[in-house]
Amino acid sequence: MSQHSRIKIYNGKIILPERIIPQGTVLVTDGVITAIAAGELEFPDAMEINANGLYISPGFIDIHVHGGGGYDFMDGTTEAFLKIAEMHAKHGTTAMLPTTLTSEKEDLLHTLNAYDAADKINTTGSAFIGMHMEGPYFAMSQRGAQDPKYIRDPDPEEYKDILESYPSIKRWSAAPELKGAIAFGKYVSAKGVLAAIAHTDAVYEEVLEAFENGYSLATHFYSAMSGVTRRNAFRFAGVIESAYLLDEMDVEIIADGVHLPAPLLKLVYKIKGTEHTALITDAMRAAGMPEGESILGNLKNGLKVIVEDGVAKLPDRSAFAGSVATADRLVRTMIHIAGISLTDTIRMITETPARIMKISDKKGSLLIGKDADILIFDENININMTMVKGKVVYQKG
Ligand SMILES: [Zn+2]
Repeated sequence: MSQHSRIKIYNGKIILPERIIPQGTVLVTDGVITAIAAGELEFPDAMEINANGLYISPGFIDIHVHGGGGYDFMDGTTEAFLKIAEMHAKHGTTAMLPTTLTSEKEDLLHTLNAYDAADKINTTGSAFIGMHMEGPYFAMSQRGAQDPKYIRDPDPEEYKDILESYPSIKRWSAAPELKGAIAFGKYVSAKGVLAAIAHTDAVYEEVLEAFENGYSLATHFYSAMSGVTRRNAFRFAGVIESAYLLDEMDVEIIADGVHLPAPLLKLVYKIKGTEHTALITDAMRAAGMPEGESILGNLKNGLKVIVEDGVAKLPDRSAFAGSVATADRLVRTMIHIAGISLTDTIRMITETPARIMKISDKKGSLLIGKDADILIFDENININMTMVKGKVVYQKG
């Protein structure tokens, strides 16, 4: 689809950070938003897009996603990256953080190399905003669907070498209670990489130390992490209570309506608020595909899973093995199932993830000077158009 240097999107309800303009116009010049106003604006020689009274929204930002459309980033191919980006763009994601799974170092390097190759030629889908390493430094007891063969303590030689070689890495999730995990958090955050707490059995004292040493986000909050535990007669606060207690700790939630039921979605929203809660898909290969059997991780040595009830499960159905959500479904869930307002919901999938990833200067809201990452959707969040940096990458047929 074509790229125009001047674009006028008009006749839509514009979702701004603090309000909705009931009927307005957005102007885009060379991929950047250059004007927003109520009513109509003159913009000679522009490509015109009539929003037909639907919403005009900032694009969704998914900071934790593994795959979709039949592909997983761990496939380690350029094709996988581009196809996943295309599939999620159809559902409103305009920026994403491709995420790895715990695996052999060689497979991780394949995926990191594929990122660099795909990023250069990705013009047809959601933009890539860096890699997220999920593992392999996790607590065995909270591994979930992560392969136990490759779970280990942080190895400074290994992570320093990987970070040095791959500046694309912008986020790394680890369990802070492991031997060497505090040094790890300190090191990666000093390099500008977001350190996140994941697959962990930490207690409050350990989470606090982690927080003070760079860890600032709880990965898929509530999943694969400790709550209140007892050791002999004594109770300990876990990661969940700690993330609530530490005001500045951010959380991300898989808001597919399956991983967390409505009361927990409401509780997270009530305590952490729109400012500290990001909505993520954590989607695996089967997102955007029919239900049935699928593979978590790469095709060669990934894990067989079953997709049913709108979620991926381990074959024995003892645990979820990733979601099959797309970003539009997260928004629908928060509005229809958790009863949260449209504007607050949109902030949790635009502004907040942009702030967490430190890209708010370019992305996360419809404001002058920001990238033209723009959606048009209806009352039920059915995506009609997706624009990434001023280029229409999806238009409903
Ligand atoms: Zn994940």
